[in-house]
Amino acid sequence: PEAKPSNFLRQIIEHDLQAGTYASRRWGGSPGDAAHHAAGVPDPARIRTRFPPEPNGYLHIGHAKSICLNFGLARDYGGVCHLRFDDTNPEKEEQEYVDAIDAAVRWLGFDWQSHCAGRIEEHRYFASDYFDFMYRAAEYLVQAGHAYVDEQSAEAMRAHRGDFNRPGTNSPYRSRNPADNLERLRQMRAGLHPDGSMVLRAKIDMASPNLNLRDPALYRIRRATHHRSGDAWCIYPMYTYAHPIEDALEQITHSICTLEFEDQRPFYDWLLERLAEGGLLQHPLPRQYEFARLNLTYVLTSKRKLAQLVNEGRVRGWDDPRLPTLAGLRRRGYTPSAIRLFAERIGASKSDSWIDYASLEGCLRDDLEHSAPRAMAVLDPLKLVLSNWAELHGNPEHTESCTLPALPHTPEGQSALAPRQFLLGRELWIERDDFAPVPPKGYKRLHPPQPDPIDPTQCSPGSRVRLKGAYVIECTGFETDASGHVTAVHAVLLPGTKSGSPGADSVKAKAAITWVAAADAVAAEVRLYERLFNSAQPEAGGADFLQALNPDSLQVRQAWLEPTLAQAQPEQRFQFERHGYFVADRHDHRPGQLVFNRIAALKDSWGK
Ligand code: ATP
Ligand code: MG
Ligand code: MG
Repeated sequence: PEAKPSNFLRQIIEHDLQAGTYASRRWGGSPGDAAHHAAGVPDPARIRTRFPPEPNGYLHIGHAKSICLNFGLARDYGGVCHLRFDDTNPEKEEQEYVDAIDAAVRWLGFDWQSHCAGRIEEHRYFASDYFDFMYRAAEYLVQAGHAYVDEQSAEAMRAHRGDFNRPGTNSPYRSRNPADNLERLRQMRAGLHPDGSMVLRAKIDMASPNLNLRDPALYRIRRATHHRSGDAWCIYPMYTYAHPIEDALEQITHSICTLEFEDQRPFYDWLLERLAEGGLLQHPLPRQYEFARLNLTYVLTSKRKLAQLVNEGRVRGWDDPRLPTLAGLRRRGYTPSAIRLFAERIGASKSDSWIDYASLEGCLRDDLEHSAPRAMAVLDPLKLVLSNWAELHGNPEHTESCTLPALPHTPEGQSALAPRQFLLGRELWIERDDFAPVPPKGYKRLHPPQPDPIDPTQCSPGSRVRLKGAYVIECTGFETDASGHVTAVHAVLLPGTKSGSPGADSVKAKAAITWVAAADAVAAEVRLYERLFNSAQPEAGGADFLQALNPDSLQVRQAWLEPTLAQAQPEQRFQFERHGYFVADRHDHRPGQLVFNRIAALKDSWGK
C-alpha cells in the first residue's frame, strides 16, 4: 500500500485525540434512547465518524470518496464509523436503496461493527428511529422561545427571507407566545392541518448575513408513507434540523460533509447548543468539518441525475457498467481495492477541483497489472490458414500444444498460477487489423508479398510475425469475397522457430501478434464500453447532459477466446493481451455462454 498523506482532517483528529476532547463521553448503545447519554458506559477516547446516505438511489463514486474517508479515518485512529440512513424524506426513499447501500459499503471492504471491551456493536442506524426525540426537541425549542409555527404561504416566506443584499423581515407569526406555538405544533403533529399550511421555524435572526440563520424551517407537514415508520407521522423534520441531532445522538465526534454545507455550520452549532442548554444533549457536541466533493470527468455524480438515466432507459439499470454507481463499477469489473486506492490518491482537501477519469482507470491498472491472469482473445476475428501445416505434419487435423505463463515473470519470481495450455492447428483466428493487403508505411504486422514499385515483375516477400507463444509465420496471400472484403489470410509456418526453443531467434519477426486456434477457441460475447458522455463536463455552462450522451457507448463483439477462459467464474478478471482488462460479467456469464466486459484498455485513451 502507498503511504497515506496527511490531510487537514487527520490533523484535526490527531489534535483532538491528544487534547482528550472526547475523553469524558459515555456511550450507551442505542442512540434513539435519549437517556443513553447520561447512563452509558465510559467510551474510550475514540473518534466517531459517520457515512450518512439518503436511501433515495444507488451510491456512486463520489460516495465512495466519503465512505473511504469516514470509515478509513475511524479505522486508522481506532475509532468507529456509523452507517446511518438519513431517511427523513419519505417520498423518495425505498428499501431497495437501503439494501443496495448496505451491499455497496460491504463490497468496498468496510463494515459497521466495532469491537469494544469484548462486545461487538453494530453501528447501522436510521434517522427515522430518532423521530420521537426530534419531535420532543422541537417541543422544547418552542417552549424555550427558540421556535415558532409560521402560517405564512410559501411565497410570502420566500419574499420575507430577503437575499444577500437585503435583510429579511419578520413573519407576522414570529411574536406568537410559546404556549400558542406549542398548541399549533401539537395540532400539526396530530394531523389537524393540511399539508403545506404551516411550518415550524427556528427563531434566530431574519437580518443575519448568513441566510441559513434567517429562521430556517425545522418541520413540515407531509402526509406520506415512510418506508420504515409507515403512517406514524404526518410531519417530518427538515434535513438541516435532523442531521445535527442524528450526529449528536450517535455521539459523532467529527461530522464530515461536503463544502456546500459550510454555510450550514453556524445553524448546526446553534441548534446543538440550544438543545444542550435544555439538557436534551450533553457536551462535548459533534463538530462539522467540510471537504471538497469529488467531481469526476465524463460522468455524473448525482443520484437524482443517475436516476433519470435509469428511469428513462438511457442505460440498462443502476448497475449498468457505464454508470459511475458502485453497482455499475462493480459490474464493469472494478475492484474494491482499485477504488480505495483512488480515494487515497485523491485525498481530502478543502478546494473543489475536477479529477480526470483516467486517474480512476490508472488505479484499476495498477491494481490488476500484477494479479490479473493473461489470456489471448481475438475480438474482431479474421481466419488465418497455415498452408504448409498438412505438409509438415502429414495430417491437416494435427494439433500441437503451446504454453504461456499465466502472469509475466516478475523480479520476485514465478507466479503460483499454473501456466496456460492451448493448441496450435492449421486454422487460426487473428485480429482483422493485424493484416493489411497493402501495408501502410511503418506497418509491422501481416501483409502479403508486395510488387516492387520499380520492377513490377519482382515481388518483395510477405511479412514475418511471431504468433505469440508459438512460431514465426510468413504471410503468403489472402482471399476476398465478391466485394473485395478479406475473408482469410494465408501464411506458412517456419519450422524450428517455436518460442522457447533453441531456434526461436533464428528468424527475425517484425512483431508478435495474438491469436487463438480454431481447434480449441471458445466463443464469447465481449462488451466494449466507451465513455457514456462525449464531453468531459456534461453539464458545463448549464448544458443539458442528455445532449452529451455518447450514442456508441456500448459495442458488442462476438469474439474467440483462449480455452482457459471457458473456466472463468463470474467477476473473475483477466488481462486480454494487447486489449486491456476484462471481467466475466457477474450476471450474464455462465458455462457455455461466456460474457466478458472490458474494464479498461491497457493505455489511457481518455485524454484523446
Ligand atoms: P447526491 O446528490 O448524489 O444524491 P447527496 O450528497 O445528496 O448526493 P447523500 O446520500 O446525502 O447524497 O450522501 C451521503 C454522503 O456522501 C454525504 O455525506 C455526502 O457529503 C457524500 N457525498 C455525496 N456525493 C459526494 C461526492 N461527489 N464527493 C464526496 N462526497 C459525496
Ligand atoms: Mg444528501
Ligand atoms: Mg442529493
